[in-house]
Order: sequence, then structure tokens, then C-alpha cells
Amino acid sequence: MRIILLGAPGSGKGTQAKLLVEKYRIPQVSTGDLLREQVAAGTDLGRKAKAAMDAGQLVTDDVVLGMIQSRLAKPDAKAGFILDGFPRNIPQAQALDAMLARLGQPLQLALLVDVDTEVLLKRLTGRRTCGSCGAIYNIYFTPPKTQGKCDKCGGSLQHRSDDNEATVGKRLKVYTEQTAPLISYYKAQGKLRTARGVGKVNDIFKTISDIIEAQMRPLAGIDLGGGKPSAKAAPAKAKPAAKKPEVKKPVPVKKALKKPAPKKAAKKAPAKKPAKKKPAPKKKKAAAKPKKKK
Ligand code: AMP
Repeated sequence: MRIILLGAPGSGKGTQAKLLVEKYRIPQVSTGDLLREQVAAGTDLGRKAKAAMDAGQLVTDDVVLGMIQSRLAKPDAKAGFILDGFPRNIPQAQALDAMLARLGQPLQLALLVDVDTEVLLKRLTGRRTCGSCGAIYNIYFTPPKTQGKCDKCGGSLQHRSDDNEATVGKRLKVYTEQTAPLISYYKAQGKLRTARGVGKVNDIFKTISDIIEAQMRPLAGIDLGGGKPSAKAAPAKAKPAAKKPEVKKPVPVKKALKKPAPKKAAKKAPAKKPAKKKPAPKKKKAAAKPKKKK
């Protein structure tokens, strides 16, 4: 299973990715998390990345792509992965496509978690993350029982340095300008599905799981032979497949061409004719008589 979670900062895709990891036993690959690890470790890469991150800007593509390439090469990613926060722009998406094509393992699904901007702002500025276990809270929506402490492990909750209002505004702008075009990119490949990311976490998760399972079911046979067939099928059925699984389409089209024709003809004809035919019984009698007489 090879999935991208798309969505604005604060859409909850990180939370959903963690639940998906538990359910499907494949790793979450978050470029944001990978970059924060580098920052925390004080590496050169981390120092370079921090400036862009604190400014709400994207880290350069070469840094992120290098990180992703080595992460996806790890053994646990062979069974699949959930990409969270990557790709972030069209060049990254193209580079990912090329990388996965080389491995013969194309992407199967780009899942957009869709949330309105007002909600995003509260989610981002109110977000707190446990420094020990990574659990996520929100001071507006899901506060911890004790302020500043993790309910699960007692670790201290941290406010990400890029979750302040000024930086959040910039991150949302960057998302609109650079990341949102990926929606059309994956729609054109027939791989985009959308889940509304508002409401209870578990309800959103159910929606997302249903989408994933619906998407993976028709691909299950294809996966046994590797990713090549789906790579060929997806571009060919680009736009039509964006709505429903590809397999279902040819069937209704054929049926629809056969059935509607007689039904429409039957409905249209009686609609107009009966009104005129009502007098028909009388005409038959009247017509019959004159014809016979004449
Ligand atoms: P995130 O945790 O995904 O919100 O990422 C936090 C920050 O890390 C972003 O605001 C960017 O500065 C940087 N970042 C994460 N992923 C990427 C990426 N794919 N490309 C460039 N920068 C990224």
C-alpha cells in the first residue's frame, strides 16, 4: 500500500497517518518529522532546514528528496508507506513518481484531507505535541487533562516553533500556492480521493479507511504482479477514474447505453400521446363507423 496524505498544515493528516500505521502496519514517512529530528540533533542539514521551517517556507527540494530517498530505501518501506507532508510541490511529486517508477512501485492513492481555513488556524495555533511519545493535543479542541502534560506518558507538551500565528499564516499561503496544485496533479492521474477532515478523529479515520479499502480492493490483483499494470492504467483513465474505482466504469456505461434508450422512449411517448389519446377511444368508435359506412 503506497499512499500520500495531502492536506493543509493542520488538516489532521499527521494524526490520521498514525492511526493508519497502527491499522495497516506500514510506516508513516513524515518529512516534517524527519526534518525536526535533524534540527533536534543539530546536524548541518538541520541547521539549514530550521531557518526555512521557522520562516514558514519550504526546505529546498534537494534536501527533502535526499531524505525521502534514503527513508524509502529502508526495509520497512518495502511493504508500503504513508507519505505525510511530502510531496509539497509539483517538482517533488514528479521526482517521487520517477523514484517509485524506478522501483516498479507506483503510488496507489493520494488522499486529500479537506478542512476549512478557519478551523486550520485554531488547530495549528492550539496544537501541542508530547516531546516524549509524540501524542498530539489541541488546547481548543482536545486539551490534555493536566495543562502542559501528556495524558498518555506524562511527558511535557511542546508548542512547535512554527505553530505561532505569523508563521502559520505563511505556511497556509505556501500551501495554497505550492502544495494545493498537487490536487489537480493527482486528480489527473486518477489517484485522488477526498475525505472531509472535520469532526471526531475516529469518524474521519473510518471515512479514510473506507476510501483506502475501496481503492485497494480493485488493485489487489494488480499488486500481486507488482505495480506496473496500475502505473499504465492510471494515466490512461486519468480524469474519469477520479470519481470512482476504475473497474466499475466500463460496466455501467454499457448498461446505461442499452437500458435508458427504451425507457426514455417509452416514457416520452406516453407522456404526450395519452393526452391526445384520451379521446382516442371515442375516435375509434367514431372512426370505425365512418370508415365502415364509407
Ligand atoms: P510539517 O510538519 O509537515 O508541517 O512540516 C514542517 C515544516 O517542515 C514545513 O513548514 C517546511 O518548512 C518543512 N517541510 C516539511 N516537509 C517538507 C517538504 N516536503 N518540502 C519542503 N519543506 C518541508
